[in-house]
Amino acid sequence: MVHQIYAGKAKEMWTTEDEDVLRVVYLDQATALNGKKKDHINDKGKTNNAISTLIFKYFEANGIETHFIKKISDAEELVKKVKIISLEMITRNYSAGHFASRYGVEEGKKFTTPVEEMCLKSDELDDPAINASQAIALGIVTQAQLDTMWAISRKVDQLLTPLFEKADMQLIDFKLEFGTLPNGKIILADEFSPDNCRLWDTKTHHHLDKDVYRKDLGELTPVYQEVLQRLEKVILL
Ligand code: 5GP
Repeated sequence: MVHQIYAGKAKEMWTTEDEDVLRVVYLDQATALNGKKKDHINDKGKTNNAISTLIFKYFEANGIETHFIKKISDAEELVKKVKIISLEMITRNYSAGHFASRYGVEEGKKFTTPVEEMCLKSDELDDPAINASQAIALGIVTQAQLDTMWAISRKVDQLLTPLFEKADMQLIDFKLEFGTLPNGKIILADEFSPDNCRLWDTKTHHHLDKDVYRKDLGELTPVYQEVLQRLEKVILL
């Protein structure tokens, strides 16, 4: 029987007739402050699905293996079933968000080498920061798995930074999630959209990501649609 296996803040996951395949439904919902701020946002689901589909296809075309199989409707896609690793892998090219607030620095400072951080995926604990030795001690990953995840994160950064530049956007930071296939192979999972990265317009430095919602800067969907239109011009698959 087909059933729901996960109801998240922005997505639902359902089983399918094929035990190796899951159906993802992108919701018209945005949350911030670990769910304390929550709103219905018209057309957000289909816009996120369109952006993430485009980027995941670009990853696959450039040798990065992902869970993505195909988009099946405006707000739905099929993905390979993986065991999600409970870590959020964050890469920062510029200071912003928690990096800026935690260390008391201005937003927008470019790093000579990207900053890499991890958080434990846990709503109850508010996604606390975690380092490699802590994640290994907790039995979440091995050092070899971490090395693989960071190698893929660096490839993603090297691939997307020039792509977004072509679309007049700076890739400020992003968060990736990974999963393991039944054979143990680690692949990229979750999504890539302005929900899990920061994008600034190169000229105006306006936010083109979820900070528009987090900081109450205006309507979210038109901003995401702008990102989609810019990406459609530069991703020619
Ligand atoms: P920060 O640590 O500054 O809040 O976030 C760094 C980057 O990771 C941002 O691009 C942010 O969108 C993403 N990020 C961090 N935590 C989460 C999370 O729990 N969910 C999502 N969707 N993105 C996150």
